[in-house]
Amino acid sequence: MNKGYERGVNMHADVAVIGVGTMGSMALWQLAKRGISVLGFEQYGIGNDRSAAGGESRLFRTAYMEGQEYVPLLQEARHLWKELESEAGTTLLTLNGGLMIGDPNTEVMKNVLKSIEAFNLEHEILAGKYAEQRYPQHRLFSEDIMILDKNAGFLRPELAVISAADRAENLGAKIHRYTKVKDIHSDKLGVTITTDKEEYRVGKVLITTGPWTGKFLSGFKTVYEARRLVLTWFTAKDIDMFKPDRFPIFARMRKGFRLTGTPTLDGTMVKASNTKDPVYVKEPANLNRDVNVDELRTVSDAVRELIPGLKPDPVRASVYMDSYSPDDHSVIGSVPGMENVLIASGFSGHGFKMSPVIGKITTELLIDGKTSYPINHLSPNRFFQNVSST
Ligand SMILES: Cc1cc2nc3c(=O)[nH]c(=O)nc-3n(C[C@H](O)[C@H](O)[C@H](O)COP(=O)(O)OP(=O)(O)OC[C@H]3O[C@@H](n4cnc5c(N)ncnc54)[C@H](O)[C@@H]3O)c2cc1C
Repeated sequence: MNKGYERGVNMHADVAVIGVGTMGSMALWQLAKRGISVLGFEQYGIGNDRSAAGGESRLFRTAYMEGQEYVPLLQEARHLWKELESEAGTTLLTLNGGLMIGDPNTEVMKNVLKSIEAFNLEHEILAGKYAEQRYPQHRLFSEDIMILDKNAGFLRPELAVISAADRAENLGAKIHRYTKVKDIHSDKLGVTITTDKEEYRVGKVLITTGPWTGKFLSGFKTVYEARRLVLTWFTAKDIDMFKPDRFPIFARMRKGFRLTGTPTLDGTMVKASNTKDPVYVKEPANLNRDVNVDELRTVSDAVRELIPGLKPDPVRASVYMDSYSPDDHSVIGSVPGMENVLIASGFSGHGFKMSPVIGKITTELLIDGKTSYPINHLSPNRFFQNVSST
């Protein structure tokens, strides 16, 4: 066991990670890399599609519309994705570029430009006829520009979670699959974890339960809300136009919807989804996985208007959910009133790309008591008074 903790007797591990989805798998990987004895608890299997991860791809962007304070985290995440790829011997991140498309006077497009300026990010700005010729797949309106983020692309979410969890297990982590954590009780010396099978005692706990967080920690109900998102896929008139070398990932802001998408990954379908205004989910275990006609019609209208080379009727649709915070930024820090318990949740529809660095940050907070990364904007103090970020 790691030295330096004041701890009780008969501990099962130094640290336990509750929820081995996106963030939990990355934290397990990073903790195990540091030689920490660590347990993971996951209510489903590893790489499951019942929560926030799944659906074939996730966008990776560096010129960040959610705010320039994320850029250092994303740059480090890019290195860590490459590290995980090399350890796992697989491809997880493909950097085929990313187009942010919209009116440059909107807040999100301004944020993209601010990120580029502040961190001197590799990019191109395209407008008018030149933009249309270069990327004829997108229909542009007179007010629109395209910003090509050269350090953008797509991730493979299922494989990423599995790769991180596999690496963690190879390095000594133990993962309890199909094991639901019912309750935790913390004291000065450690934390007792009650699962639907057995009880465990560890030094510290990291909670990465994603959309279930409000359910799992009732004190956090007001901070984290589960919301439902629908992903949709379309066929193309000429699929070659939508291959990764010709069709960068994109995020497009337009009144009424936010269309995001990836090139074809299977050679037959292109993912384009409306990710604006995800719907509140009262009970994550009963997530409604049916997609209603209005949802299909809205995204179909958007595709017909904006990407004329796609056939506008969705051929595949699937439902996921994420944990949202009131300001759409995650919360990483101590759980108020619970000693030795840290939380990382509320990634609000944009956390996948940064998950390896979140794994590293949470590892530093748990083991060193502080982190070397700039995460003031993610502090729990936004929602709770006098909570330390360690
Ligand atoms: C449709 C959709 C599209 C997205 N697109 C992008 C994108 O393009 N780019 C991007 O960067 N981000 C994107 N995101 C956001 C990103 O996927 C999430 O922010 C991220 O996956 C959240 O990770 P998490 O670890 O918090 O949650 P999850 O990955 O859901 O992990 C939580 C895990 O905890 C487990 N769990 C919960 N409660 C318990 C319990 N009591 N006991 C044991 N286990 C438990 C769950 O089963 C689950 O496996 C998208 C999200 C969605 C839903």
